[in-house]
Amino acid sequence: MEAKKIRSTFIEFFQSKQHQFVPSSPIVVKNDPTLMFTNAGMNQFKDYFLGNEIAKATRVANSQKCLRVSGKHNDLEEVGVDTYHHTMFEMLGNWSFGDYFKKEAIEWAWELLTDVYKLPKDRLYVSVFGGDTSDGLDKDIEAFDLWKNIVPEDRIIFGSKKDNFWEMGDTGPCGPCSEIHVDLRSDEERASESGFDLVNNDHPQVIEIWNLVFMQFNRLSDGSLKELPAKHVDTGMGFERLVRAIQEKSSNYDTDIFIPFIQILEQKSGKTYGESEKIDIAMRVIVDHIRAIAFTIADGQLPSNNKAGYVIRRILRRAVRYGYTFLGFQKPFMFDLMPLLAENFGEIFPEVAAQQDFIAKVIQEEEASFLRTLDNGLKILDQIQVEMASKSEKVIDGKTAFELYDTFGFPLDLTSLIARENGLSIDEKGFAEEMAKQKNRSRAAAEQETGDWIMVSDEEGVEFIGYDHLEASSKIVKYRQI
Ligand code: ATP
Ligand code: MG
Ligand code: MG
Ligand code: MG
Repeated sequence: MEAKKIRSTFIEFFQSKQHQFVPSSPIVVKNDPTLMFTNAGMNQFKDYFLGNEIAKATRVANSQKCLRVSGKHNDLEEVGVDTYHHTMFEMLGNWSFGDYFKKEAIEWAWELLTDVYKLPKDRLYVSVFGGDTSDGLDKDIEAFDLWKNIVPEDRIIFGSKKDNFWEMGDTGPCGPCSEIHVDLRSDEERASESGFDLVNNDHPQVIEIWNLVFMQFNRLSDGSLKELPAKHVDTGMGFERLVRAIQEKSSNYDTDIFIPFIQILEQKSGKTYGESEKIDIAMRVIVDHIRAIAFTIADGQLPSNNKAGYVIRRILRRAVRYGYTFLGFQKPFMFDLMPLLAENFGEIFPEVAAQQDFIAKVIQEEEASFLRTLDNGLKILDQIQVEMASKSEKVIDGKTAFELYDTFGFPLDLTSLIARENGLSIDEKGFAEEMAKQKNRSRAAAEQETGDWIMVSDEEGVEFIGYDHLEASSKIVKYRQI
């Protein structure tokens, strides 16, 4: 079954169960200070669960554009290195807002996977919440009993709070969840070792595909749990992983979602996918990242030096450097993937095709601007590494990392990635200090230059909470006349 058909089958299946199809919300979140990008299907329904708004329909299904590159869910380091975590991915979901609960959610999930998509039952495992003493929560026996009617007991795993209990935040709706995992190993491997112990163990061929969350409690500010008057279901299934399972591939990148993009890279670079680990990772990173970049731009966020814009710029530069170093691309190459991307997503996410030329132009310009300094920056970094090796040093100092950022446009995580490839690390705190110093310098300069006007800024320097969160924020609040 082709990917497009797999997606439409999901939607039609839930429509046949009286669900209303709801379009994806934008990937860029504009009105929620706690979230930069949409990272799950439930984001757009948050107010229903919190009771701030009444749901327009009690049963809903959709395919949500998600991005997991910042905050609570940050999969960036995995992307391309493994073959099932993406930056941008589609999350297929069905919801019940105070309507059906565990029984229907479980039975329909199983019906869809095994009757409709025909996934072999002996490759599937399910997990249920195994209880937690700190919260005085029991095992989710209700879910266990429901599963027991469908699958043999030795395919049901009791999971920890970490994997099988979902919470929106410190307070608010929460509840146990049940996940479905698929074992995509060869018959021989499966015969020699049961997949049971491999579930939730980062095995590259035994992967989670669907999470069924049962919102049952409200966590109050004193930490206690109260049963919700109306119970809800929130499910999320990774579309690319589902396609891989149905198409029986050992990697998401071997499905018809990604192969055509990899083929373009092969033609343009003269290199072959499968040739070497480095080439493979580079190709996977690029065909993954182009989606994150294109969708974000389509939803109105241009690459920039601030917040969400800087996250996108970092992702783009990361991809450009992989292409430059491992595939030999010295000129912009990513923008050339846009026509195929626009075509592939034409039906489900028409916003990409509608702005195709504009998006391609933005990407091409970003690529060109970074490529102008990339080569020099990499040479300097090489020199530094040689010098460090001669002194047996392992940590690149903050000043050097900052110079690479400031002069050559190397985001900190890119320098860090290259350092890691060479067995080195970076003094991130030192980097943040250099950044703060520069901001003070430019503030002082701005005060002098503006004459009768000085800028009043609410910026409190750069708060360092790990390089993922490091944002070169320079929000100017107001001007004050003196
Ligand atoms: P994992 O444990 O594999 O990181 P997760 O538990 O973080 O996944 P959920 O938050 O439960 O994922 O999201 C629901 C579904 O979305 C998952 O079952 C999976 O199929 C899919 N998914 C999650 N993260 C990614 C990702 N980075 N790329 C592709 N699909 C993903
Ligand atoms: Mg995860
Ligand atoms: Mg998980
Ligand atoms: Mg999960």
